[in-house]
Amino acid sequence: MIKTDVLVIGAGPIGLFAVHQLGIIGLKAEVVDNLDKIGGQCIELYPDKPIYDIPAIPECTGESLTKNLLEQVKPFKTNFHLNERVQEISKEKNHWKIATSKNKIFIAPNIIIAGGVGSFEPRKFSIEEAIKFENNGVYYSIKDKNYFKNKKICIFGGGDSALDWAIELSKFAEVILIHRRNEFRGVGNSFKTVKKLEKEGKLKIKTPFQINSIEGQHKISAITIKTEDDKTEKITTDCILGFFGLIMKLGPIGEWGLNLDKKHIPVNTENFQTNKEGIFAIGDICTYPGKLKLILSGFHEAALAARTCFKIARPNEKYKFEFSTTSKKMQERLGLKKDK
Ligand SMILES: Cc1cc2nc3c(=O)[nH]c(=O)nc-3n(C[C@H](O)[C@H](O)[C@H](O)COP(=O)(O)OP(=O)(O)OC[C@H]3O[C@@H](n4cnc5c(N)ncnc54)[C@H](O)[C@@H]3O)c2cc1C
Repeated sequence: MIKTDVLVIGAGPIGLFAVHQLGIIGLKAEVVDNLDKIGGQCIELYPDKPIYDIPAIPECTGESLTKNLLEQVKPFKTNFHLNERVQEISKEKNHWKIATSKNKIFIAPNIIIAGGVGSFEPRKFSIEEAIKFENNGVYYSIKDKNYFKNKKICIFGGGDSALDWAIELSKFAEVILIHRRNEFRGVGNSFKTVKKLEKEGKLKIKTPFQINSIEGQHKISAITIKTEDDKTEKITTDCILGFFGLIMKLGPIGEWGLNLDKKHIPVNTENFQTNKEGIFAIGDICTYPGKLKLILSGFHEAALAARTCFKIARPNEKYKFEFSTTSKKMQERLGLKKDK
């Protein structure tokens, strides 16, 4: 059981800035995100694309913004619980009990939901056997590429992830890249490299094929693939990887008794609190008259929510407004020298 002042759901840009705003006023936060990496949409959807409307930063990319936000929260030594979805919340006396998909329990007087468009989840194989073998031969992401060394692998998909992993894993595994169309969606260079590797006999490409069945008892022994006109082919393999993109689901957030308006959470704009005391919603997931789904709006929302979190977490202390330029306390929390 982990006790903290605030449990932040979502490690996107707004969840990260919330950690900063909580940290400088002296509150501890723990962050949970369903993804295997920090950065939310900025990292998952557009790491290389330029952003031009972050105040005082004329241009940055999704990746560099995330890197800088992480740098800014470094002094607070925050724990990030990745690959974990917040499943359930319940009220216990003066605090919230929060349970994750990995059965971790957090106890906190405040929850900040910075869940964006909901949790990103991989699009999965549609055949039933894929569920049976999930995480035991069927994978939708790679946590440790060494696991695949010297294995026979079938990679499904036509986008960048499928192409990039086919290139990478072909260095030390037997790879077959399978796609339902003859054309790949991935960017030019990766596709050229894949074709070159195919010519050199370092990987195989099979198109236009889709998965038809998976064979095996306790582990996968083979799969069959088929064309649109039902021509089938059997392939012996140790595992299959599916890279079909991500779907965004509001997921469990929709079941916590919060008021909802078309998959968004209405909030009070004074402090971004939801209809439940101690639960705040900021960033893309919240809605109010005039809401702009921009990163800069989320930063403002984080600042206000953090101040009310303070009042709830420290009912006996008075919150005092301070500037970071002049507040010794804030500067100490940021690990700066006292004489600065
Ligand atoms: C292509 C593109 C370009 C964009 N360009 C700009 C731009 O130029 N300027 C701008 O201001 N904005 C831009 N945006 C919008 C901007 O990216 C979003 O406003 C911003 O990412 C919202 O941040 P967030 O932290 O609220 O949510 P997100 O970035 O969506 O992060 C939410 C996180 O919460 C996690 N999560 C959700 N539910 C759970 C749960 N139950 N348990 C655990 N984790 C959960 C998700 O996995 C996700 O990582 C762009 C968006 C896109 C798609």
